[in-house]
Amino acid sequence: MNVLYASAEVAPFAKTGGLADVAGSLPKALTTLGCRVAVLMPFYKCVRGMGLDARPFKIEEFDFLKHSEDGVEYVFLVNDRYYDRENLYSEPHGDYADNDMRFSHFSKAIAAFAAQSDFKPDIINLNDWQTGLVPIYLKLRSSDIKTVFTIHNIGYQGLFGKDALERIGIPRKFYNIDGIEYYGKISFLKAGIVYATALTTVSHGYSKEIITQEFGCGMDGILRTRLADLHGIVNGADYAVWDPSIDKHIKINYTAESIDKKDECKKDLIKVAGLPDEVRSRPLIGVISRLAEQKGIDLLVDAAEDIIDLGASMIILGTGDEKYNDLCRRIANAHPQYIASHVRFDNELAHKIEAGSDMFAMPSRYEPCGLNQLYSFKYGTLPVVRATGGLEDTIIDLCADREKGNGIKFYNATKADLVDAIGRAIELYKDKAAWKTIQKRIMGLDFSWKASALHYKELYEKLDGTRH
Ligand code: ADP
Repeated sequence: MNVLYASAEVAPFAKTGGLADVAGSLPKALTTLGCRVAVLMPFYKCVRGMGLDARPFKIEEFDFLKHSEDGVEYVFLVNDRYYDRENLYSEPHGDYADNDMRFSHFSKAIAAFAAQSDFKPDIINLNDWQTGLVPIYLKLRSSDIKTVFTIHNIGYQGLFGKDALERIGIPRKFYNIDGIEYYGKISFLKAGIVYATALTTVSHGYSKEIITQEFGCGMDGILRTRLADLHGIVNGADYAVWDPSIDKHIKINYTAESIDKKDECKKDLIKVAGLPDEVRSRPLIGVISRLAEQKGIDLLVDAAEDIIDLGASMIILGTGDEKYNDLCRRIANAHPQYIASHVRFDNELAHKIEAGSDMFAMPSRYEPCGLNQLYSFKYGTLPVVRATGGLEDTIIDLCADREKGNGIKFYNATKADLVDAIGRAIELYKDKAAWKTIQKRIMGLDFSWKASALHYKELYEKLDGTRH
């Protein structure tokens, strides 16, 4: 089974969020199940900077570079006008104005590679709006290669004015309410939803949420027409990258057996974060997040004084909307002895936060899957989450089930409920022996890709139809 996996971001080459983690790890897991996998992504400036050993080749008008690693064939689409830029999608003041051209070009190249290269995919797994046009471009080539379109976040829809139609080479017949039209605009995400052979999303809970008006962000109606083809497959964690026993970014490696060493990581994190050493005796809450409305960071900022009063301290790592960047900076400036904010993207600090924190907060308004709660388990860091989407699926509240519990959950997106949840976590933390037992248990949980990659493979086989 040859699988072409196409994504606008793939770790460790380029990353803004969880999509990159998935695109960096699911393909590797699929190869261990016997699939041959090629991963196709744009050749951004940050990838150029890595100086990979790659071989150039050309298909039609598209220039590619090929590089093999860990049993996966990585194929980069080269176009310096579109991709040789500082960021992936946007500048500080907003999205790149030519994102329609950048990602329609990417989608055309995916279709060209699929149809013309000697890789000959049986299945193409597409991801999010940046690849949403591929099923249309395949149709225009009369290609019948099957496509799976994975929705990582229904809130990002690839919306552009309808004047883009001609520029991106889509015939007008696709511009209608059952096609790519979306309230007078065009939506690349909707193209994927309408024209892909099958759809997946990144947790069972989110697959149920996105077909409702509350969570569907306007796509619930069209999704309900594709219910039979929509599957929820929960993401896994890549333990080759997120495991404190081998993590190269943290002060000292540790396992469940040597959990006491985690305290060295806390000490190091406190120093690196710029908090005073005295906070070591307090429970430390870690946060790593894109700073967007979705993530509920405003709730956390509102709750900051209560969190300090409860006896905790907090480190926030995040970047995103200027409004939330400011909120985070301001709360750290107001309480520099207890709260540190680092407004940037910093992979090394992210690893240090997973290892050095006692608890990890995710007060998301919605969360398709969420990965940091899974990473937190492995680092013995207790997740405190809002019960939504993948967080609802993966977290069992310790207050409801002391034997199987793996975190603390709250239900209403309010400051009061968040503070209550953090208060419950802190109560547990006070009993050192019980806390250690919980830490050791969550470190042993298996949220690897093993089971989920198998679900993807079974879906591919079903669609391909020629294999059993
Ligand atoms: P989303 O995809 O919505 O951003 P996920 O929880 O699925 O959320 O995945 C987020 C990923 O991005 C995690 O690997 C997290 O550690 C990482 N991440 C988010 N913000 C930052 C940041 N500012 N610096 C470093 N890593 C970050």
